Amino acid sequence: MKFDTIIIGGGLSGLIAGIELSRKGQKCMIVSAGQSALHFFSGSLELCGLEDEPAKAMEQLPQSHPYRKIGLDTALTLAERVKPLFAEVGVNFKGNAERNHWRITPLGVLKRAWLTLDEYASVPSDGLMPWKKVALLNIDGFLDFHTSYIAAGLAERGVECVVKGISMPELERLRHNPTEMRSTNIAKTLTGELIGKLAARINEYAKDVDAVLMPAVVGLAGNADVVRLKEKVDRPLHFLATLPPSVPGIRLQMMLKRHFQKLGGVYMLGDTVREGVFEGDRLAGIMTVNHGDTCFKADNFILASGSFFSKGLVSDINGVREPVFGLDVDSLDERPQWYRKDMFEAQPYMSFGVATDVGFHPSRNGQPVENLYATGSVLSNCHPMKEGSGAGVAILTALHVADTILKNQ
Ligand SMILES: Cc1cc2nc3c(=O)[nH]c(=O)nc-3n(C[C@H](O)[C@H](O)[C@H](O)COP(=O)(O)OP(=O)(O)OC[C@H]3O[C@@H](n4cnc5c(N)ncnc54)[C@H](O)[C@@H]3O)c2cc1C
Repeated sequence: MKFDTIIIGGGLSGLIAGIELSRKGQKCMIVSAGQSALHFFSGSLELCGLEDEPAKAMEQLPQSHPYRKIGLDTALTLAERVKPLFAEVGVNFKGNAERNHWRITPLGVLKRAWLTLDEYASVPSDGLMPWKKVALLNIDGFLDFHTSYIAAGLAERGVECVVKGISMPELERLRHNPTEMRSTNIAKTLTGELIGKLAARINEYAKDVDAVLMPAVVGLAGNADVVRLKEKVDRPLHFLATLPPSVPGIRLQMMLKRHFQKLGGVYMLGDTVREGVFEGDRLAGIMTVNHGDTCFKADNFILASGSFFSKGLVSDINGVREPVFGLDVDSLDERPQWYRKDMFEAQPYMSFGVATDVGFHPSRNGQPVENLYATGSVLSNCHPMKEGSGAGVAILTALHVADTILKNQ
């Protein structure tokens, strides 16, 4: 079977690349082993959070950083395409690349963000809190949302929180077993007719407050329940991130996947690319775990298999490896150098990844593979946690590589 481009990994980076190539007419396939970082999504995408202005923040990044390979001006131009692209998928974000705003973490602290889902609570760039008094609600028995931390964080910023729990008989079944009381199960229950009932319960506390804040436990399959709930609640309703799994992240992943398929893309879920078939300096095809001897061929390939978290990189006694193609990796030889003892320090292993040239071509034994590109968190020389750059690197490298492939076709 022959494609224009085959993408290994169906997380944020692989999906954005697949959508961009498909909407320009390419025949694409994504092979994705399983869950991605989106299942842990905070509700906000980060571009570069070292300073208020991403453009200034990017100036601090090393020359080897993926944004530098794209070119900082080009990276910022690509960033302008992202909000409209998500809107096309049916997902609306607020924010812009000129100035970061603030997201509220599950621990109640503020972190810089580039784009935040429209329905989420956020604080403007100037840091001035948009509310004086809020109702901070949780679902009774839901342990992955800690109102005490959030209330303390908001109180420090002068926001009074009225903390209340909501119970609904329909959720009692989940409460019998605490492991069932997870965000995704709550979202599966709180849908359809129950949205009206939930709104009525929320409205009992939506009096004399500027806004209502509650955990993101609505809208697993699509936006409709979120929109209906917001319409039915008497005060502005904003969601806050829970501990994983992330309901909006899973929704985003599903909506991106559906959009890719609607554009004609083939998404092979639950299959793992196990090896490549090379012809000289080119990758001719890939073999997957589920498809035995079938070799999937394409003109170009994109490796978007993520970092250690998604097994795009693995480490063993011999060092750090890229497990599919055996690509060259930027890492440190001595294992003790991988970590810092203080867990709050930037950990060196987080910037390990596949080594690429300026065109994002990885190499094998020092030899670039001319029709293979790497994008997203499998790349070396970026540190998503320290820089606040995770989603930005995933999306902008995907768009840049898609542009390159289209230009060269
Ligand atoms: C837990 C976590 C939470 C994060 N939250 C945020 C956030 O809220 N905001 C933000 O800006 N950044 C966040 N980041 C940074 C994150 O890295 C990026 O935002 C981004 O989602 C990474 O996308 P990716 O596509 O590069 O990799 P991933 O999301 O890791 O996706 C890689 C995909 O490749 C698949 N795969 C791997 N190997 C193979 C194979 N051999 N064959 C087939 N498929 C394969 C995996 O199953 C996975 O689906 C987070 C990172 C982590 C680890």
